[in-house]
Amino acid sequence: MSDVSKMYINGEWVTSESGETKQIMNPATGELVGTASFGGGQEAKKAIDAAHDAFGKWSRAAARERSKYLYKLYELVRDHRDELAGIISAEMGKPLREAKGEVLGAADNFLWYAEEVKRVYGETIPSSIPNKRIMVLRQAIGVVAAITPWNFPVNMVARKIAPALAAGCTVVLKPAESTPLSAIRLFELIEQAGFPKGVVNLVVGDPVSIGKEFMENEKVQKIGFTGSTRVGKLLMEGAAKQVKRVSMELGGHAPFIVFEDADLDAAADGLFESKFRNTGQMCISTNRLYVHENVASSFTEKLAERLKKAKVGDGRNKDTEIGPLVNEQALNKVLDHIEDAKNKGAKVAHGGNRLTDGDYAKGFYCEPTVLVDVTTEMKIYQEETFGPVVPMITFTDEAAVVEHANNTRFGLAAYVYTRDNARCFRMAELLEYGIVGINDGSPTQTQAPFGGFKESGIGREGGKYGLEEYLETKFVSFGV
Ligand code: NAP
Repeated sequence: MSDVSKMYINGEWVTSESGETKQIMNPATGELVGTASFGGGQEAKKAIDAAHDAFGKWSRAAARERSKYLYKLYELVRDHRDELAGIISAEMGKPLREAKGEVLGAADNFLWYAEEVKRVYGETIPSSIPNKRIMVLRQAIGVVAAITPWNFPVNMVARKIAPALAAGCTVVLKPAESTPLSAIRLFELIEQAGFPKGVVNLVVGDPVSIGKEFMENEKVQKIGFTGSTRVGKLLMEGAAKQVKRVSMELGGHAPFIVFEDADLDAAADGLFESKFRNTGQMCISTNRLYVHENVASSFTEKLAERLKKAKVGDGRNKDTEIGPLVNEQALNKVLDHIEDAKNKGAKVAHGGNRLTDGDYAKGFYCEPTVLVDVTTEMKIYQEETFGPVVPMITFTDEAAVVEHANNTRFGLAAYVYTRDNARCFRMAELLEYGIVGINDGSPTQTQAPFGGFKESGIGREGGKYGLEEYLETKFVSFGV
């Protein structure tokens, strides 16, 4: 059992009671990356007990004390950037350059909240009654159960645990079962940073039984989730029975609008960033490209030129820009969306096929693809594709394109390219999305609020908004 990666519960590295394990395979090559112990509800319960026991002392510690641990963790994550990036890339295929960026993003979250923890202020409010005083306190919610996806296996963890720990909450984290190894390495650094036992716990295993324990255990005060809207809704239903707090970062269906007056080179670069980063497997990935009719053919050419140069391959190679899909199921969904679109009249302007020659045969690769003549009844127009395919639709009228862009149950990210200042403001206000990139294909930063409208989620991660999610507001009335 020595080469089995373990869970971290109450300051101890443990294996599952059942002895079950899960092998983690590299989606670029099919090779074994490592083996993780695979637990379930029992382990989740133990971890929740530990987090509950640790809560009182941790939440009452001076803010500067909590800051010290977070700062140490920032330094450790920063210093282990290459190692963590290597594990991410092996586990889920992300190009190394991007994986390094992800790890630095995670480190930045620990740094930011190490600083922000010192600024959790309360308030006094003038009373209407002369012999009373009003005080407002901000206090940690309690034990937080967090669930994260595989597409940003380190940064999604950081974005949850950094603000939760800063606020004074204790945490039980369940990472995605296909990417536990990077989370386990992060937890080794958490141990090295010296967090008191029970403050942060890691449970790897069966999502259904762990999720059930998270929803039903009364010691859990809050569920923080990033993943699909389907699972988010299940967790919300379960959490409602005990009125647990929830933060939900769910699916997206981002429109990317290129107006006639746009800088087309900048727009092509922005689209490449927003569609092909992480092989299109981001909640904020472009999912519908709207291009003004008068510039559609020149924009398609620019995009195809850019894609011809894009190096597709094993994420661990230095020059790889686009890696494999995370698994066969993900690849099949992408290919199905392409096939469905072609059957309904779309034309392939670039790519369109699975890559199978040479080393590609071992992994789950799809050519970066551009589809034109896309219409609203195609699956690719209606669903989140989560892959390297751009479906292009032309438009002529500003009001109509906004209506199309907003005509979805999702509302996470939207992108607009235009040189018209007034239109920039109109678009920023009219698009029903939590994040709007105006002439910006990569609009995320640690200090900015990240989250969605409609079925894309509830709550925000990032910056001071992220900290709010882990704090309760208490009104204290003093008779004087
Ligand atoms: P997913 O299937 O919902 O999985 C996300 C997490 O939920 C994983 O840890 C998964 O565990 C767990 N899970 C699955 N079923 C569960 C259940 N019944 N109870 C409790 N937990 C359960 O999503 P995914 O396919 O991995 O991730 C892609 C989705 O996440 C996309 O829709 C994407 O847009 C969204 N996403 C959103 C954001 C955002 O910030 N808004 C960021 C990234 C991704 P297992 O891995 O063990 O199945």
